[in-house]
Formats: sequence, structure tokens, C-alpha cells
Amino acid sequence: MTVSNTDASPFKILCSLLQAAEIITPDSSDYTESSQTWAAQKYSNPGLVIRPTSTDSLGKALAYLYTTNLDFAIYGHGFSSASAKDVLINTSAFDNFHFEAHSETVTIGAGQPWAEVYRKLSQVAPEYGIIGARTPCVGVAGAIVSGGFSWLSSEYGCISDPENMIDAKVVKYDGSVVWASTEPELLWALRGGGGGFGGR
Ligand SMILES: Cc1cc2nc3c(=O)[nH]c(=O)nc-3n(C[C@H](O)[C@H](O)[C@H](O)COP(=O)(O)OP(=O)(O)OC[C@H]3O[C@@H](n4cnc5c(N)ncnc54)[C@H](O)[C@@H]3O)c2cc1C
Repeated sequence: MTVSNTDASPFKILCSLLQAAEIITPDSSDYTESSQTWAAQKYSNPGLVIRPTSTDSLGKALAYLYTTNLDFAIYGHGFSSASAKDVLINTSAFDNFHFEAHSETVTIGAGQPWAEVYRKLSQVAPEYGIIGARTPCVGVAGAIVSGGFSWLSSEYGCISDPENMIDAKVVKYDGSVVWASTEPELLWALRGGGGGFGGR
């Protein structure tokens, strides 16, 4: 790994908590793709992009970042222009998909774009639709925390409505992992509370 403007000790400590494949430096070929913002003027040239591949490594990184003065942000797909001067946490590795036929529910990774959800659903259950974003390239979590509008919203409501988004697994500031339904105010805030709520 080549470290350019990331030589300061907090960056090194953060990197030591992650696998090499989870670290994206400004000279990495996927740096721009992993951090670009819809609004160019909001782009903060992050000193480091990390892409945790598990809730465990995301938890370790978050718990450490909250002990530092580093400017950091959570990034989905950049359509609300999430960016930070120091560390950007790219969530795109959270891209799982599971369709449960019995309950007619899907469990989807929050870091993928809706286009991936539509593609995966059409492969396993083409007879079903889902209340997802009109614009397929926006991120799942970003759309949900923004309320979320679907082509089906006039009939079925917002993507984040209780009938459509049942629950979410959340990595909290201290690295702990909870289902939001165990903390009803957290689940309420996820339903359109806006990105970065509860952050500092
Ligand atoms: C061209 C365009 C078309 C759009 N079309 C639609 C549409 O059809 N339907 C609709 O509902 N909305 C639409 N939107 C709005 C879009 O859903 C929001 O801007 C949404 O926040 C984008 O999410 P993102 O992951 O792409 O953006 P980002 O900027 O990466 O993230 C948005 C916010 O969510 C937070 N966030 C992202 N992922 C996570 C995560 N995994 N955990 C915690 N926080 C997270 C970020 O910190 C940030 O505050 C559109 C926006 C644009 C610019």
C-alpha cells in the first residue's frame, strides 16, 4: 500500500484495524469511483477512503474514528454528495440480497444502488416488484434516510414507510451492532431523518 497524504498517525491506526483490501488511497485506481459526489463543489478530496467488508470491520473503524478529531463521513453512492476531508467510509461492500418467498420480504445490503436490487430481484423472483428509488443509481440507505420516492409511491408510500422498510441492522458510533427495531427512536429516525443524523 502506498500512503501519500495519509501519513499522520490516526490514518495509520485506522489502517491497522482494516484489511489491505478495505483501504483505498488517493493513488488507488478506484479512489475517484469510490468517493465522487453528484455536486462537484461538495467534493472534499478525502485523505483516505475505507471500504469495510463486514459489520465487524466497520464497527472497529467507526469506534476508532469517534475517538479522533478526523473529519469523516459515510458514503453510499454520492447522490447527496457525502464527502469528508479526512476519511470517507464507502459502504458499497454491503451488497447482499436475500429473497424470502414465504414472507414475501427481501433483506438487502444498504450499500448497493437500487439498480442492483432490481437486477437481483428479477433473477430470483421476476413476478415481484419492490418499492425502491425511481432513479436506479442512487444508494439504498441514502434513499431510505431521505424518505425515498418510488414510481410506486403514489400507491404504496415512501420507501422508508413501515409497510416497506421493516427493520435495519445498524452499526452504532461505538461499533456495536443492533437491529433498529430494538431501539424504536433509531428506527423512526431512519425513516427519512436525513443522512448523518446522530453524527457529530
Ligand atoms: C439525480 C438524482 C436522482 C434521484 N432520484 C431519486 C429517486 O428516484 N428516489 C429517491 O427516493 N431519491 C432520489 N434522489 C435522492 C437520493 O435518494 C438521495 O440524494 C440519497 O441520499 C442518495 O443516496 P446516496 O447513497 O447515493 O448518496 P450519499 O451522498 O452517498 O449518501 C447520502 C446520505 O446518506 C448517508 N448514507 C448513505 N449510505 C449510508 C449507510 N449505509 N449508512 C448510514 N448512512 C448512509 C450519507 O452519510 C449521506 O448523508 C435522487 C438524487 C439525485 C441527485
